[in-house]
Amino acid sequence: MAGMLYLVPTPIGNLGDISLRCRQTLEQADFIAAEDTRVTLKLLNHLNIKKSLISYFEHNKAQKGEAIVQRILAGETCALVSDAGSPAISDPGEELVRQCAEAGITVCAIPGPCAVITALSISGQATGRFCFEGFLSTAKKSRREHLESLIDEQRTMIFYEAPHKLLATLESMAQVFGPERPISLCRELTKLHEEVVRTTLGGAIELYTQQPPKGEFVLVVAGAQPIPKEVHTTVDAAQRVKELMDTGMSRKDAVKQTAQELDLPKNAVYEAALSLE
Ligand code: SAM
Repeated sequence: MAGMLYLVPTPIGNLGDISLRCRQTLEQADFIAAEDTRVTLKLLNHLNIKKSLISYFEHNKAQKGEAIVQRILAGETCALVSDAGSPAISDPGEELVRQCAEAGITVCAIPGPCAVITALSISGQATGRFCFEGFLSTAKKSRREHLESLIDEQRTMIFYEAPHKLLATLESMAQVFGPERPISLCRELTKLHEEVVRTTLGGAIELYTQQPPKGEFVLVVAGAQPIPKEVHTTVDAAQRVKELMDTGMSRKDAVKQTAQELDLPKNAVYEAALSLE
């Protein structure tokens, strides 16, 4: 019988956040695939768990993934962990999940610590609709292109960022979204120095120019304000039909085009056009 792959989230700071189920899964797995075996060994020592560890990280995942799949197909159960938080979310694991699914292996994701959700919930920004954008590129041009693709995004946007790139990222964001755009900078979540700075992009640039950023950050940026839809009346419609008919267009076509342009029902436009005659 084939084994299984478990995705096991680990604390993003506070070791108390490991759940009972995660602990049991780590204890019961045949082996653990870890992003950095040294980091995971510290956690396992803290939990008093002794288990066979193999490394699975960005630069060996192509070759290690296949070996893991074969072991699971042979009947072993693997627990995948990353350095912190939920595996496969801006972390190695996405590809292993795909490989296991393709091989018909059952994948079980255990819910638990995840920086993006922890930050969103504490941010004070709108949480009803959001998009996760992961890490921006370090290259200025692709960072800018990524941000420009979000210029009309109305959902709350969430980014991961390293402290040494924070200022450059905030500056690019202010250029694209404007310095008045609200942002919540969620730092060192669940740790001793947890802090949430709710400000604007301009305010954040000012703050972190004076005080160099330290620790891990999640940036929660408010979405764009919706552009109010222009409300068109039947009087506008009648005028537009007349304009189009003056160019030689038939009434039928002018009504059709006007209805499309002004987002009004065709019947209403037709009646408005008749009333003008
Ligand atoms: N898979 C993990 C998750 O979803 O929780 C995220 C891994 S990603 C490689 C690491 C990034 O997550 C950091 O650069 C930072 O943006 C964010 N992060 C992780 N732990 C954090 C913490 N305690 N406080 C704030 N941000 C954190």
